[in-house]
Amino acid sequence: MAKGQYESKRVKATVASRSVPGSAFPYNPGVVQVTNSPLRTQELASKFAMRLSGGECIALHGDLGAGKTQFVRGLVRGLGGNERAVSSPTFVLLNVYQTPRFAVYHLDAYRVGGADEFEAIGFAELLEQGGVVVVEWADRVAELLPPNAIHIRLSAVSRMQRRIEFP
Ligand code: ADP
Ligand code: MG
Repeated sequence: MAKGQYESKRVKATVASRSVPGSAFPYNPGVVQVTNSPLRTQELASKFAMRLSGGECIALHGDLGAGKTQFVRGLVRGLGGNERAVSSPTFVLLNVYQTPRFAVYHLDAYRVGGADEFEAIGFAELLEQGGVVVVEWADRVAELLPPNAIHIRLSAVSRMQRRIEFP
């Protein structure tokens, strides 16, 4: 009897703790979601990060200002890393963030002349490091992306609203 009571309390506690932070924005695969602030976009990305186990390639699509870099910030935070280290690697091509789970390799193909520039910085090797590789403007290097890349599409709906589409 006492054991049964203990177990039911444990179940309640688990349910309660799961439904506390950011519950308004659970990550739902296959569902289009609209966020209304950069913070909400980050929260969504943090939730999404929980399904990553290392070795994935995430292809981010969307125009300038769509929220791709904000998304990466939330992803790094979701993995326990320092989101303030996240900046757009538009000029340096690659930023690396260490997290307690695995490294995040953040690339931006906006200014690359072509896929060969990405190859030259060792893109193929990055995919084999056991970390997560995130590529902004992924369609510019489409031929280099692995077939199992996770494509996420972001677009601006209004000044503060962003539409985010997960596979
Ligand atoms: P990208 O990397 O796609 O060019 P950024 O993430 O660098 O875009 O910038 C997105 C811009 O849009 C930031 O200035 C951010 O403050 C603003 N913004 C406004 N609303 C949102 C939102 N809901 N989600 C993400 N960013 C937003
Ligand atoms: Mg960016």
